[in-house]
Amino acid sequence: TKHCIIVGSGIAGIAASIRMALKGYQVQVFESNAYPGGKLSEIEIQGYRFDAGPSLFTLPDQVEELFLLAGKDPKEHFEYQKLEVACHYFWEDGKQIKAWADQNRFAEEVETKLGESGTTIRAALKRSAFIYDHLAPLFMHRSLHQLSTWIRPQALKSYLKMGKLGIFSTMNKANEALFAQPKLVQLFNRYATYNGSDPYQTPATLNIIPHLEFNIGAFFPKKGMHEITLSLYRLALSLGVTYHFNSSVEEILVEKGKAIGVQVKGKPVCGEVVINNMDMVNAYKTILKKQKQPKKLLEQPKSSSALIFYWGINKVFPELDLHNILFSDDYRAEFEHIFKKGSIYHDPTVYINITSVYKQDDAPPGCMNWFTMINVPNNQGQDWDQLITAARKNIIAKINRILKTDVEQLIEVEQILEPRTIEYRTSSAQGALYGNSSNNKFAAFLRHANYSSDIKNLYFCGGSVHPGGGIPLSLLSAKIMTEMVGG
Ligand code: FAD
Repeated sequence: TKHCIIVGSGIAGIAASIRMALKGYQVQVFESNAYPGGKLSEIEIQGYRFDAGPSLFTLPDQVEELFLLAGKDPKEHFEYQKLEVACHYFWEDGKQIKAWADQNRFAEEVETKLGESGTTIRAALKRSAFIYDHLAPLFMHRSLHQLSTWIRPQALKSYLKMGKLGIFSTMNKANEALFAQPKLVQLFNRYATYNGSDPYQTPATLNIIPHLEFNIGAFFPKKGMHEITLSLYRLALSLGVTYHFNSSVEEILVEKGKAIGVQVKGKPVCGEVVINNMDMVNAYKTILKKQKQPKKLLEQPKSSSALIFYWGINKVFPELDLHNILFSDDYRAEFEHIFKKGSIYHDPTVYINITSVYKQDDAPPGCMNWFTMINVPNNQGQDWDQLITAARKNIIAKINRILKTDVEQLIEVEQILEPRTIEYRTSSAQGALYGNSSNNKFAAFLRHANYSSDIKNLYFCGGSVHPGGGIPLSLLSAKIMTEMVGG
């Protein structure tokens, strides 16, 4: 048997371990942390459970596919449900809407509550489906670094539609051209944050994202987001994969232009294939520091980071759903702070994710588990302690204004995650959530490939390589990569 070594057990590393085991490799995964999943992990504080990182689950078929490949029925191993309401939106002027999964219902809601014609909602979702149909087969499912991708008939068809795919406009401009009501522009601009980008800079092509949430659906795993990690980890174990925790890889060993294994705790471990799931920037700085550095790729601007307060709240708010957004009054100023000033706006958009709405035992009776998050710049050495103290005050004031409450009084337990701790725990460069940002139209081409062009037998998967960050794309990176490895 051939041996495969994987550095990191992020969701892409786990998916890669499953795919390589199914290819017949003997797989060993080395992970710095004491647990699998990287960003997709969970924390517990005094009776409250929180999904630590990702909260929105789209494209569940990417998870199911792994069970199917292994000849198992996904329903027996990983249960999830479709959300009726993708998100509950709140504004300072008292307006609220629910983004219903059902398009007609959503269009009706927007018409009655915000005065935007339902026709534009349908047009927006059609536009999104159009971009998805043209670009997903090319950008999400294939390597961009192989000629074969570019000479497929599908690619040729897409070249002819460049203008319609939004490559020459920004997300915000395209949304302003479509919607009459600024609140809808804001709502659809928010999708840029799904990969840590700025709607005022990112190409309108990213209007592809609402397709995932509305046309395909937003979902919730019955046991919480962390179950994505756990169910796939169990699948990997059942296929004979070995996981070594508390085991940082110190170096990827290269001999005569070939990866031959890794060094862990001072000792070499050899394998025919080495797969790196660690963030690329930090990987080149540490475990690949002796190798040729792809300078241009490593210098690309990173996506935004997050500031999260995990709050145990001693009250139930019936008006709150699983996903809630309390919008900033000045979205442009908020993004200017994040991406241009490297700072935090005083009126940030506050996202509150409450899994106890769906999974009651995530909080004690009569309580809720609030994952309260704002988007913040990635870490450039700012004075975070000072920024966090100010942001906490502003977030609480905003929640109090919109929900007419005194939230400070209700916080029973608190823990904080911020750019420095995100980097510390998962080794993501600058604490960015999604690797490189997509703020420029060439970003897709400036992500690291899924293989090394200099070192044989070395492959890459995860949110910092092609096709990008987020759970579905990270899972796809493992698929694209595995297809390149010989059997
Ligand atoms: P990571 O999760 O980055 O894990 C990499 C692993 O490698 C870590 O476990 C690390 O310890 C390990 N490692 C690093 N160096 C070494 C070494 N030298 N030796 C051994 N092990 C090493 N995505 C969504 O789809 N929906 C969301 O709602 C969403 N929200 C998010 C919110 C937050 C707060 C965060 C942080 C992320 C969010 N994301 C979301 C993004 C998503 O979490 C990531 O894109 C995805 O989990 C990245 O997976 P990965 O495989 O790249 O690995």
